[in-house]
Amino acid sequence: MGDGLQLDNAKQLLQQYYAGQQVESPNGGFLMLLGIRSNDDGSATGIFECNVSSLRYELTIPKATRTERKKVREILNDGGDPFCPRHGTTSRLVRAGKDLVCPACGIAYAKP
Ligand SMILES: [Zn+2]
Repeated sequence: MGDGLQLDNAKQLLQQYYAGQQVESPNGGFLMLLGIRSNDDGSATGIFECNVSSLRYELTIPKATRTERKKVREILNDGGDPFCPRHGTTSRLVRAGKDLVCPACGIAYAKP
């Protein structure tokens, strides 16, 4: 995965992505997810390709907030199986090494 172009309206696009909607490309068309890379600082980078222009774009997905981590921790403490605080019931957190990670956003929300 090479480095992609940056997007001006990343915040809006992230909302579409979390909601499970198609992410709009600046060139018309849509951005198709190629992959997610986890970063050392707890954030992640989504690599997208425009289905019209085939240009590649990067979207930085912010790391888990204190509120999100607390929410996930409470569900774990109750013996529950938490979903991603951003993706909701479309994405259950999975164990990846020492972390509980959302496979859709690549963010670690807890250490089980
Ligand atoms: Zn997620």
